[in-house]
Amino acid sequence: MKRMPALKANRWDGAVAVLVVVLAVVCGVLIWGRTANAGELTVVVTADGQEVERVALDAFPDTPRAYSGNGYTLQVSTETDGKRGICVSVSDCPTQDCVHTGTITRAGQSIVCLPARISITLEGETASGDGPDLVIG
Ligand SMILES: [Zn+2]
Repeated sequence: MKRMPALKANRWDGAVAVLVVVLAVVCGVLIWGRTANAGELTVVVTADGQEVERVALDAFPDTPRAYSGNGYTLQVSTETDGKRGICVSVSDCPTQDCVHTGTITRAGQSIVCLPARISITLEGETASGDGPDLVIG
């Protein structure tokens, strides 16, 4: 008795859904791209709480570098899967959590190996550097 124009409504719903997804992706790309460009990333490696390495991600050698801690050795290598990052490619620790963490590419991310007591953190220059985002004047 009452028939809704279902086909028409669905088509519009679909269009709106597509639009929302597109907007979300665009926003995501803008925000993430902005974060990535917020300064040069620095790889900071600590072993047993002591900083053992601090090197710019761009300057990190393409050949894997080994770090040892607590009797375990981690092979750390750069990854350029679209975006330059760093990962633990090989480790002889029992948990392998550090290897499973995968590649980190953004400031603030880190790979932690609890058995080896090694952590690899990406630090970035946020806030200061390129000037303020918002100028009040
Ligand atoms: Zn590990």
